[in-house]
Amino acid sequence: MMRIAGFVVLVACGPHPVDPPVPVNAASDRLVIAHTNDLHAHFAPNAAPWIAGEPEVGGFAEIAGHVEQLHRRWGGDNVLVLDGGDIMTGTPLMEFEVRGVRGGAMLDFMEEAGMDAWVLGNHEFDIGYDHVSALVTASRIPVLSANLDAVDGSGVPGIAGVQDHSIFERAGLRIGVFGLTTDSLARLTGTDATNLMQVRSVEEVAKEQVAILEPQVDLVVALTHMGLSVDQRVAEAVDGIDLIVGGHSHTSLTEPVRVNDTWIVQAGSYGRQLGVADMRVVDGQIVDFKAQLIDLIPGTVEPPEASATLMKTWSERLDALFAESISVVPQAFSERSKQAETSLGRWAADMVRGAAACDIGIYNPGGIRSGLAEGPVNREDLYRVFPFANDVVQFEASGDDLLGLAIKNAGADLNGGHPVMQLSGMVVEWTVVSGAPSIVSVTVGGQPLEPQQVYTVATNSYVADRWRYNLGFEPAQLKTAGITVFEAAVDRAKAGPIKAPSDRRMKRIDR
Ligand SMILES: [Zn+2]
Repeated sequence: MMRIAGFVVLVACGPHPVDPPVPVNAASDRLVIAHTNDLHAHFAPNAAPWIAGEPEVGGFAEIAGHVEQLHRRWGGDNVLVLDGGDIMTGTPLMEFEVRGVRGGAMLDFMEEAGMDAWVLGNHEFDIGYDHVSALVTASRIPVLSANLDAVDGSGVPGIAGVQDHSIFERAGLRIGVFGLTTDSLARLTGTDATNLMQVRSVEEVAKEQVAILEPQVDLVVALTHMGLSVDQRVAEAVDGIDLIVGGHSHTSLTEPVRVNDTWIVQAGSYGRQLGVADMRVVDGQIVDFKAQLIDLIPGTVEPPEASATLMKTWSERLDALFAESISVVPQAFSERSKQAETSLGRWAADMVRGAAACDIGIYNPGGIRSGLAEGPVNREDLYRVFPFANDVVQFEASGDDLLGLAIKNAGADLNGGHPVMQLSGMVVEWTVVSGAPSIVSVTVGGQPLEPQQVYTVATNSYVADRWRYNLGFEPAQLKTAGITVFEAAVDRAKAGPIKAPSDRRMKRIDR
């Protein structure tokens, strides 16, 4: 596909040449900013739970098709395309190296779709500092983040090649786009990265960036990966940001949010929606702002051939990867229950405990979506068991906290109405006294539970995020282990046969 003077020339493929489409509004004074965020290595359509029937929507053929349509409608010189970060972690695309870096295929997709810049999200740091450095080097479009500095306090970027901001010319305007990465990065990454950088406060850095950019540009845009509530906080605290294009909270903002003079937009997750904001800018102020989220339903636009081919190629590669046998199940896991301990629940709890090397593993039975049949196992089988893009996380808990969980679990077993958390490394013996659950003993690693001792616990991010319901106590020192549940399950499956652990961890001793 050729781009001439900012709009796209369609190459005719039928017997009669077709005239290139006439741009409807090529000389428009409207600026159009299209955006995605939290792609998490999703390059192909995936389920949209907010649409009846949960159809599969999105993918880069659709993103590229809609961007091309925007170019045709408004003129390529009027369109800026941004991504709000967390391009990494979430599908087996991460198992492949492209441009010398794992997950590098995402850069191919983003650049082919016409993206102009992206901001570093927390999941870019999942593999480690060297990986994110290589990713930045490999990106041909600007990678932004103004608040990650070198540890020496010199103010130079914490990662070579990352830019504080980039200035674009579109619709006859100068647009300054600066990046912000969540300042909770240390809690959100399990790797060495935050020891090798200084993560500065987003408010402080936003003020500095506005001061630098305002004299040079017509419009100041913050491209952020810190979540909607922090976007709102920054908009409240910092004057002069015209627009925040956000990410991290996976929020589908069907209506843009306005805080003082700042507009905030965000486009859900996994490339299922494209945010399109269009505006006029008069004397450095946004007027006539319109923002919409387009559900990327396949077939609504003609996808550009290059993007469609890239998506097809990778879909086929992943299908082959999914179909490859990686382990074996000697005996089927068929029991399913939320109200009792199951052998697959024990395996899942063992799996997260092993992945994070903790004393204890905890897994919610609702997070186990299928059994496993006897025989060879491939990634697709495991994906059906663990389909959620949750991370393995780790935290600290006292013996008292864990005793509380043991009581909660025994109550769930006895009375129902609440899932029984699946355990690893921790064994609870309990009985019933006067109709109520009573704990007889709790051991961790074979030793009696000490109320004041601190234990390390691994679980998935869903359980930790909803700790009130799932655990009954707040996890201390919570951080990610830098691996998704699915990836951890694949690693464990590859290490040997998937055998049902036979040792019970919740033992009612009066029956
Ligand atoms: Zn994030």
